Amino acid sequence: MDALVVGCGLSGSVIARYLAEELGKKVVIWEKRDHIAGNMYDFKDKHGILVHKYGPHTFHTKKKELYDYMCRFTEWQNYKLTCGAMINGKYTPTPFNFQTIDDFYSQEEAEDLKTRLKLEFSNRKTITVLEALDAKDPMIKQYAQFLFDNDYSLYTAKQWGVSPEEIDPSVLKRVPLRLSYENRYFDDEYQVMPKKSYVHFFKNLSNHPNIEVQFGVDALEHIKIKDNTLYLDGEEMSIPVIYTGAIDELFELEFGSLPYRSLKFEWKHELIESKQEAPVVAYPQEKDFTRITEYKKLPVQEVKGTSYAVEYPLKYEIGNKSEPYYPVLTQNSQLIYRKYLEKSKKISNLYLCGRLADFKYYNMDQVLERALYICKTISAFLYLEPK
Ligand SMILES: Cc1cc2nc3c(=O)[nH]c(=O)nc-3n(C[C@H](O)[C@H](O)[C@H](O)COP(=O)(O)OP(=O)(O)OC[C@H]3O[C@@H](n4cnc5c(N)ncnc54)[C@H](O)[C@@H]3O)c2cc1C
Repeated sequence: MDALVVGCGLSGSVIARYLAEELGKKVVIWEKRDHIAGNMYDFKDKHGILVHKYGPHTFHTKKKELYDYMCRFTEWQNYKLTCGAMINGKYTPTPFNFQTIDDFYSQEEAEDLKTRLKLEFSNRKTITVLEALDAKDPMIKQYAQFLFDNDYSLYTAKQWGVSPEEIDPSVLKRVPLRLSYENRYFDDEYQVMPKKSYVHFFKNLSNHPNIEVQFGVDALEHIKIKDNTLYLDGEEMSIPVIYTGAIDELFELEFGSLPYRSLKFEWKHELIESKQEAPVVAYPQEKDFTRITEYKKLPVQEVKGTSYAVEYPLKYEIGNKSEPYYPVLTQNSQLIYRKYLEKSKKISNLYLCGRLADFKYYNMDQVLERALYICKTISAFLYLEPK
């Protein structure tokens, strides 16, 4: 073995491929789960519907080179994700757009509000909800307040496990409101789904004679760090170790544990054509769950019945079988993270990459970009030119 990769998600698999293919290294990937693909794992359920085990994943990016990379390992189809929210029993698209105004105002009021928005924010396709809340025009303000009270504050509170009163409107400074009828969820140029599956992509990605994937291995049962040196079952390691698991766990929680939100998925199947209008719909006014993903629409699958997952946010706790999904980014958690980061920098053959190791909420394209950057760093460290 010339290099050890911990984790067979996107970051670990991309780096393993580079080491194997470009640098000719023999790479072993240790994965504690029993499958490849990390959180992008998908599979056909017993009703023959392709579902995503860890929540809905749509690949989207502005960068052609990242899309091109994904195309090396499987075929993709264009797919424009649409999402919505159920408010007062009515479906409306998200990000909220002019349709939302039509849905909740009389025709006359709706026309008036749309005109006011166009006037106050002329030449803008989107504004942020915060801008709308701060608008001078009372009708725009009132519209934004309605959305805040009936959607954002309720949804955000459930998602992060706090009370709606604690949600400060400033969290909405990046949340868009569309000033048109555009109903795509993302604006990125490349928005795709695999023609076969994410797992097919990962099978091809890790299919290289220099890569061996071992499942059911928790790397932290074998790897220890002492005096800035990595040990594998007691033996000092000099090969590169690429770690994509949780950074705090790598250092045995020395500076405390990093906070994450987790999710519980309740899987259901019904013999109906359609459960909801869009593949992903938020239910802000429901007490416990945040959203439902209906998989036959992600992308469209011609099947009888429908399978969907109801998402319940919950606290992540090590050892209680929950998965760390969303890093909770606070001043304190950043402080803790930076302590781990500083410590990791002292270990010359250790490379951290991915949403757990970098303690960042990355989308897939960001993880890919980061992994490709780490590949270059390793290559430079080994004084090797790619073939
Ligand atoms: C609900 C949800 C929806 C999402 N939707 C989208 C989306 O629509 N679009 C998008 O671009 N991104 C989305 N993402 C983000 C996307 O999942 C991530 O960007 C990407 O999967 C991260 O890849 P990764 O390799 O960093 O981490 P992971 O996929 O988590 O892979 C890390 C792997 O390391 C393994 N591991 C950890 N510790 C150890 C250990 N000690 N020993 C052995 N193995 C270990 C884990 O089991 C895991 O398989 C979503 C994320 C979530 C949670």
